[in-house]
Amino acid sequence: MLSIKNLNVKIENNEIIKDFSLDIKKGEVHALMGINGAGKSTLVKALCDHYECEVTSGSVEFNDKDLLELDASQRANEGLFLSFQNPIEVPGVNNMYFLKSALNAKREYQGLEELDAASFLKEIKAITAEFGIDNKILKRDLNAGFSGGEKKRNELLQLLVLKPDLILLDEIDSGLDVDAIKLVANGINSLLDGNRSVLMITHYDKLLEAIKPDFVHVLKDGKIIQSGDYSLAETIQEKGYEAIGV
Ligand code: ADP
Ligand code: MG
Ligand code: MG
Repeated sequence: MLSIKNLNVKIENNEIIKDFSLDIKKGEVHALMGINGAGKSTLVKALCDHYECEVTSGSVEFNDKDLLELDASQRANEGLFLSFQNPIEVPGVNNMYFLKSALNAKREYQGLEELDAASFLKEIKAITAEFGIDNKILKRDLNAGFSGGEKKRNELLQLLVLKPDLILLDEIDSGLDVDAIKLVANGINSLLDGNRSVLMITHYDKLLEAIKPDFVHVLKDGKIIQSGDYSLAETIQEKGYEAIGV
């Protein structure tokens, strides 16, 4: 699904991601771990064409397309989704309107008919009911004045509405209590039908335990220095990064 080869990314003229390579196949769940400042957020932002990131060399293939040739909205419509570490507040844009527009943009891109307001409302209410998300956040402006936990729940809601092929999660568990982490993990697990893939950035054992990645990679200074299976995450949880030479 995703094939990253020798990717180099700069932010404000500093090399952050250095010669980074990773393959993610259909249905696989990968975790990306590493200390603060390793470049985890920069990597996933670069994959989404974030304006801060400048890809200086390397290649990225996504669903057999050259990802780097596509702009941010095309990447989203192709099935890429990034849940931000710090979701931005967009006062003046109603959350429900935002979700409906995002879904309809994707449907239009795929040659599907637009969902009208009534059908969308029915669909979104089914989702919020199934996953225990408070409908109040639909009426508010996108992330405006949301608590940290509400922002992360709203990221989950976007995921459940858009059903992307490749789900990039940048610390979706930060700011959540244990119950909310379970809710978020349930939502993500519900999307994992063998056709979707995940690259999750997290520091916390609760989300790792609930989602159980197939592969774990440790990023240091913009490069993967170690990869393994779920047991690598357990070692990091128990003994810290120092134990594996970070
Ligand atoms: P992580 O997510 O692993 O904590 P980041 O990708 O956020 O790491 O940051 C990697 C490096 O890039 C850090 O040294 C950070 O200071 C730098 N960096 C990130 N964003 C910016 C920015 N907007 N401007 C300048 N430097 C940045
Ligand atoms: Mg960080
Ligand atoms: Mg980060």
